[in-house]
Amino acid sequence: MFSCTGYAAASAKAPLAPTTIQRRTTGPTDVRITITHCGVCHSDIHTARNEWRGTLYPCIPGHEIVGHVAETGASVTKYKVGDRVGVGCMVDSCRECPSCKAGLEQYCEPGARFTYNSPEANGQGHTFGGYTQSIVVDQDFVLKIPENLDMAAAAPLLCAGITTYSPLVHWKIGKGHRVGVVGLGGLGHMGVKFAVALGAEVTLFTTSASKVEDGKRLGAHHVVVTKDENAMKAEAATYDFILDCVSARHDVNAYFRLLRLDGALVQVGLPEEPLPVEMFSLVHKRRNFAGSLIGGIEETQKMLDFCGDHNITCDIEPIRMEDINTAYERMLKSDVKYRFVIDMNTMPQPT
Ligand code: NAP
Ligand code: ZN
Ligand code: ZN
Repeated sequence: MFSCTGYAAASAKAPLAPTTIQRRTTGPTDVRITITHCGVCHSDIHTARNEWRGTLYPCIPGHEIVGHVAETGASVTKYKVGDRVGVGCMVDSCRECPSCKAGLEQYCEPGARFTYNSPEANGQGHTFGGYTQSIVVDQDFVLKIPENLDMAAAAPLLCAGITTYSPLVHWKIGKGHRVGVVGLGGLGHMGVKFAVALGAEVTLFTTSASKVEDGKRLGAHHVVVTKDENAMKAEAATYDFILDCVSARHDVNAYFRLLRLDGALVQVGLPEEPLPVEMFSLVHKRRNFAGSLIGGIEETQKMLDFCGDHNITCDIEPIRMEDINTAYERMLKSDVKYRFVIDMNTMPQPT
């Protein structure tokens, strides 16, 4: 074991504060990574504050991790010291169930081991995420960051990127499709970029009138401010696919009504409370309502390579580690353009 400095929530009501944890020493198939940056996902807030229940404390969030390989285990073949690497939402899975065999580790039947808030493999304690100086991960759950991408701006690809890329690819979105993206936050801004890169005609739906220009700059062909009822009515039954990236309670039925025959609304946002579904808005036009969870490891690498080929990164606001609690408050006010990324060099050292 070795000591590692990080930022943790001690309880649902406590702000994040400096702490020291123990990480395992590098095993034969492990890679030890010195973390340079970690993105701040809204799931970090939901978990730190126990909004989804079941948070294990102390809780160290962070699953948009990038850094350099500092050490490799004796049997590691995929990485060498100094490589630019990333870790997303998962650090292991059973590897034997049909989902794992199909490269869908996020749907592992006994359950994937998530980067934070999962039981540790040895049964002692739980996993700690990327708000730390370093992490030790099995090589099979480590990703390569393309050389041409800025590390800080690539970090949020590990969650916000794959979570929006995966459903767009699964539903075969491309030229000729009308796509709506709901909510311009960390996930939403990547949803817009990917849907545009895949050739779709894209509309951003936002509650924030101040984000109209940004939506267009990010590539959206149209932007609808959702408080404008007439603008919403004008879009009725014209979309093939809608990606809902909203983190809080909102009316999904308003978006079902925008789908044309056989259109699909895919929910990736995970509000704390259940959302009411009006059956009439679904049965008309045989609409589909589905969900999607991050993406598998192979697909995450494909997404990163796609970003390398198309020069796609995230629009980020770098923060110091000690600013994390302020960053959470700003995210709750939809005030982030469009992802906070912690510069891990700012981690306070124990005195
Ligand atoms: P975020 O950066 O905070 O963005 C959320 C956006 O939702 C806001 O920017 C805002 O966009 C919109 N919004 C917020 N409150 C709203 C409200 N009351 N009504 C309507 N719109 C509202 O969050 P994120 O990191 O992108 O995460 C979004 C959600 O996805 C979270 O629930 C997160 O836990 C979840 N998530 C799911 C997966 C998965 O695998 N399915 C992976 C990662 C994250 P506008 O200002 O444009 O309206
Ligand atoms: Zn996330
Ligand atoms: Zn499995």
